[in-house]
Amino acid sequence: MKTVAVIGAGPAGLMAAEVLSQSGVQVDVYDSMPSVGRKFLMAGKSGLNLTHSEPFEQFAARYGSRRKWIEPMLKEFDASELREWAKELGIETFVGTSGRVFPVNMKASPLLRAWLKRLQNNAVTIHTRHRWIGWNKNQSLRFETIDGEKLVKADAVILALGGGSWRKLGADVSLVDWLEQAGVKVEALKSSNCGFDVAWSEYFREKYQGQPLKSVVLSFESFRQQGEFVVTKHGVEGSLIYACSAQVRDAIAAHGTTNIQLDLAPNLSHDDVLKKLSKPRGSKTMASHLEKTVGIKGVKAGLLREFLSKDDFGNLERLADAIKSLSIPLIAPRPIDEAISSAGGVLFEELDEYLMLKKLPGIFCAGEMLDWEAPTGGYLLTACFASGRVAGQGALKWLTNS
Ligand SMILES: Cc1cc2nc3c(=O)[nH]c(=O)nc-3n(C[C@H](O)[C@H](O)[C@H](O)COP(=O)(O)OP(=O)(O)OC[C@H]3O[C@@H](n4cnc5c(N)ncnc54)[C@H](O)[C@@H]3O)c2cc1C
Repeated sequence: MKTVAVIGAGPAGLMAAEVLSQSGVQVDVYDSMPSVGRKFLMAGKSGLNLTHSEPFEQFAARYGSRRKWIEPMLKEFDASELREWAKELGIETFVGTSGRVFPVNMKASPLLRAWLKRLQNNAVTIHTRHRWIGWNKNQSLRFETIDGEKLVKADAVILALGGGSWRKLGADVSLVDWLEQAGVKVEALKSSNCGFDVAWSEYFREKYQGQPLKSVVLSFESFRQQGEFVVTKHGVEGSLIYACSAQVRDAIAAHGTTNIQLDLAPNLSHDDVLKKLSKPRGSKTMASHLEKTVGIKGVKAGLLREFLSKDDFGNLERLADAIKSLSIPLIAPRPIDEAISSAGGVLFEELDEYLMLKKLPGIFCAGEMLDWEAPTGGYLLTACFASGRVAGQGALKWLTNS
């Protein structure tokens, strides 16, 4: 019987294992961690956003410059097929108000449990605590295990090692070295869907860290979106920041630092703000005048104080300008270990249409370790599942022809 080694038991690797096992191939899945799917389970902690319900055209556009490679995979396994697949595992899904798709109970663990059971029924063997560390001279896979190094030969290999974020959930940035040593071109891994550092004053940091900025409009280059984020000890984090993080990260890489613009009063026009601020202040402090007239208080008022000089804070025109477009200087993306996902990875040019490495026939790659990125919204998981399927199908085709 032909054997396939799948390395990495996240959504991409398990999906490849499923495709292969349904065709009677012996599948062994290896993972360095003591248990499987840790990042997937973590994703379920804040509500597992499996996919998105928007039209295919919009969905495919989320992959930006990598769309041409991701789109064919999504055509084989799109959001509705993913929902159908989850349903077959007994997991009903629903569309949230934002169009995002979640399991009804919001969690990842019931889905993973049902999935692992199905894989076990298909005779897939899972080997945990097996860290892949490259190949030996005979092209055997080398694994570090608690019993020492183990060598494995397989007729085909699927690498589904994930991206570089959250080392404690199994991410292993050494994959870049091992693949480069094997002659495969890999784009350096970078933070994606990440927060950024801001040089807050000690006073601002102490007073406002952990506080949410609710309903602001963030503008950056062509990006303009209403939403919220959080002030952190180091800078800024949260959904609105993640949404523009790829553009911001690239601008920082090109220019050193960059500024985002915040509209702190999105429901008022500039004229409205100025008119309201121009009402007689009487003996009130500027802070209380700001709150009474335009409803700006707390962390929003703190931000104005942080970035405006005393003179500008007291000048109604300049204060209104800042309320409608406050520049926040971002210094650096947060480290990859803290990011939701990573950009970079194995270049698509290194792969054929079945995600087989052109330089290493019989070895396939899938999931976040490929060189693509997407915003949050279920796009990450959908592409991981879809690419796992393609790699699994590719390995089957390879086994048939070799
Ligand atoms: C906090 C958080 C929340 C998220 N929420 C969402 C969400 O709601 N929706 C969404 O679409 N995406 C979400 N994501 C992203 C999503 O979880 C990942 O994109 C997805 O898990 C990547 O799947 P993968 O199979 O490519 O890799 P992974 O899930 O990272 O799996 C890779 C596996 O490979 C193993 N491995 C790595 N190196 C080795 C090695 N050398 N030897 C053996 N095994 C190895 C790892 O232990 C791991 O189990 C979230 C991520 C985080 C961190």
